[in-house]
Amino acid sequence: MEFKEHIKIIENYPKEGIRFKDITPLMQNGEAYRKAMDEMVKYVKGKDADIIVGPEARGFIVGCPVSYALELGFVPVRKEGKLPREVIKVEYGLEYGKDALTIHKDSIVPGQKVVIMDDLLATGGTIDATIQLVEKLGGKVVGLAFMIELTYLNGRDKLKDYDIFTLMQY
Ligand code: 5GP
Repeated sequence: MEFKEHIKIIENYPKEGIRFKDITPLMQNGEAYRKAMDEMVKYVKGKDADIIVGPEARGFIVGCPVSYALELGFVPVRKEGKLPREVIKVEYGLEYGKDALTIHKDSIVPGQKVVIMDDLLATGGTIDATIQLVEKLGGKVVGLAFMIELTYLNGRDKLKDYDIFTLMQY
């Protein structure tokens, strides 16, 4: 399947100069979404992961179907103020903006093998912050999986110590 046929590129969104990759047409197409998730499932299965972690909100769109398919737990990473119990926090810079991410303090058992999933790898800032959260809790990051990689933003350089899987590259 040519997954890129289901991605729409939106010029100058959410800011001038950004070419936003819209994944919603892919999600809207049952066959494309299912097949994309099947590819992600294969990757995560090969990593023998114990649990999946995904940053809000689009990390849930890719992480949760894989979690369901493999009967693995899913841990949400969220913006500050969104998780109800005790959290740890890491600040990070985005392709467009700055933010803080949090994770529940008791969400990872030390030594657990973790795959982190998101829709898209741009500069790697979001995933770098997510890795820091997982590692602070004692998790072992065994892989990173994304539907889309923007190779021109060199996110891989920032994440060179980790195994990375991407379905589409721009
Ligand atoms: P990074 O932190 O790697 O620079 O940016 C990746 C994060 O920003 C991801 O969580 C992703 O959802 C969001 N993001 C950045 N650019 C795009 C884009 O063009 N399309 C989509 N769908 N998400 C983007």
